[in-house]
Amino acid sequence: MPKNLLAGGGLCHVHCLMNDATINGTADDPSPEAPLPPGLYIVATPIGNLGDLSPRAASILSRAETIAVEDSRVTAKLLNRLGVKRRMTPYHDHSGDHVRPALIARMATEAVALVSDAGTPLISDPGYKLVRDARDAGIAVTTIPGPCAAVAALTLAGLPTDRFFFLGFLPSKEKARADAIAEVASVRATLILYESGPRLAATLSALERGLGDREAAVVREISKTFEESVTAPLSALAARYLENGGPKGEIVIVVGPPGEAPAATDADADILLRDALNRLSVGQAASEVAKATGLNRRELYSRAIAIRGES
Ligand code: SAM
Repeated sequence: MPKNLLAGGGLCHVHCLMNDATINGTADDPSPEAPLPPGLYIVATPIGNLGDLSPRAASILSRAETIAVEDSRVTAKLLNRLGVKRRMTPYHDHSGDHVRPALIARMATEAVALVSDAGTPLISDPGYKLVRDARDAGIAVTTIPGPCAAVAALTLAGLPTDRFFFLGFLPSKEKARADAIAEVASVRATLILYESGPRLAATLSALERGLGDREAAVVREISKTFEESVTAPLSALAARYLENGGPKGEIVIVVGPPGEAPAATDADADILLRDALNRLSVGQAASEVAKATGLNRRELYSRAIAIRGES
């Protein structure tokens, strides 16, 4: 089974959090003002809306003696919001063997928090090697769960959620990208990928070539002002972004499993119709969107007339 399958199951090392503050399986912080016990604290931070920083995450960041960061300028902004100043040290998994042992040694006597620029550390972000080495050294590792773009996008896409497979970023070179897609073509799970605006259309086309015209979603700017989620067949999504160019902002692509085809919603159809009407007549636009979505052409035609009437 590929390593980055996020779905449950399988063997794992069990980290048991058992202390006086564990009630019915919930770990409450007994004293949010008290110094933190030494160890490594993995802290998830917002992916857009700062209101998504949990009170527990804020408390840990305010009390950790050192925070290992991707970019100190990004984390400094978050700490400013909390009104605290903490010692920060840069950390990347490729930082090399000299940085990690020093950080691990520190964790033996003090609380070290790990954050990335946004979201959950270790998920397409640094941290895996630090956690591995901390565990090997017998350091207590605690996670403070929170925002993760992959899971948030899955909740918006309207695609099956019972089994999902996280691919992170695909390789940028065409051949390597096609190979990576071919590798997962037979996986019976929803696929989740991170992508950037400029590469979006090419990636959607490559996914259509490698997987067939599956139902998929482009989810952008989660928890920000211009949050958007459009679900449609890969061919329709590829046409949309080829036509309009790469969208701004941060993007997650979610692709339904083989053989699944949940219907596009009216809102999805409206977005596709608006795009199609920029280049086609009302009748042609209705036909194109009907073909792409399986929705009724006559209803789409009426909707297209209404949309054209708005402008
Ligand atoms: N560790 C992060 C997490 O938990 O989601 C992901 C870090 S990865 C370097 C950054 C990528 O996550 C972006 O390029 C984008 O694909 C996705 N991403 C992050 N924030 C997002 C948001 N607000 N909306 C959509 N995608 C987002």
